[in-house]
Amino acid sequence: MKITGIETLCLSRPHEPERQWITSRYRTVKADCAIVVISTDEGLQGIGEACAYGWPLQIKGWVDWLKPDLIGQDPLDWTIVPHPNGRSRAYDCAVAGIDCALWDLRGQIEGKPTAKLLNADAHDQVRLYASSGCRYDWNDRPEQLVEEALDYAEQGLTACKVRIGTEWSWNGVTVDRFLGLIRELAQAVDGRMELMLDGNQRLTEDQALAIARELDRLGFIWFEEPIPQTDIDGYARLNAAVDMPITGGEQYTTLEQFRPYLEKRAYGIVQPDAGVCGITECMRIAQAAERYGVDLCPHSWHNGLMAMANGHLVAALPNPRVLELCMIQGPLQWAIIAEPPSIADGHLSVAGAPGLGVRLANDLEARFPYIEGHYAVTVER
Ligand SMILES: [Mg+2]
Repeated sequence: MKITGIETLCLSRPHEPERQWITSRYRTVKADCAIVVISTDEGLQGIGEACAYGWPLQIKGWVDWLKPDLIGQDPLDWTIVPHPNGRSRAYDCAVAGIDCALWDLRGQIEGKPTAKLLNADAHDQVRLYASSGCRYDWNDRPEQLVEEALDYAEQGLTACKVRIGTEWSWNGVTVDRFLGLIRELAQAVDGRMELMLDGNQRLTEDQALAIARELDRLGFIWFEEPIPQTDIDGYARLNAAVDMPITGGEQYTTLEQFRPYLEKRAYGIVQPDAGVCGITECMRIAQAAERYGVDLCPHSWHNGLMAMANGHLVAALPNPRVLELCMIQGPLQWAIIAEPPSIADGHLSVAGAPGLGVRLANDLEARFPYIEGHYAVTVER
């Protein structure tokens, strides 16, 4: 079998005003998506979603640049897979899209779900966590965070990750005030869901330590990216100070970037993303992390095809934890898939059809034409 074509679909859908979400100093105005499609001379087609944070048009440019190396090659040949370089996000996202599409193709050729190719003992389903808590505004009923989380519990989800809200300085938010809301959340959820917090690198180490101690006491299962990601020693101190894992690494794309964090015990869980660095590099990172006693639990954002790739990855890991499911992407998230997988009892099945198990819906470029420009606008207050 030979690869005969590679193309990138760049898609967008504007958010309705009530769906636009605000966090930190940004309001998102649209949902974006970049999908790499690899065709073969035998009619099979592999699909992989590249993280839209690499910018769809730039991703498309890099995919086109890599295309001559792949046309005419055998999709089962491991040596053709490009590697992320850790320097250009757009390039690495393009590599990730190609890598995921090749894993989808290989699964179809072998007649197995991708998870079973990665690990013959892979699980058939993965437990999801609702990833959001970024709709609430410190200026207007921050307790919406609690209402949103309870809604996810009602939907049968058994874990939920929240964020720290709009820019704290706008409303004089302190660690104490924030922890008041977090205690309210924990009390309302009352053990029905596991809880995690993502600091999105916005806290100082002192703030992060105070918050980490309280999250630990409340039974949160991790605290993600509390401080700027390059402060490896700060991460190591925080990770040593509490029992709960301090996690991170969603922007990193190579094992080499993760290695200093592993050596310094700076992350209790590593969080690369198959849509940012590819399934192949995620598996490489997972194997290295395992030697340090550290689990991999991928970052996963944006659309449903990305959820499938990260889902197959999680199902194949030695200690599968949970799969992140973006709750605020809007209708584009699953509209890209012809028959979206069922999500029952807070789990996603990865044991269906071969490969990543899903096919693209028709006429995507006509239905969701790409809208140029940033997905978010800066908010001034
Ligand atoms: Mg995060």
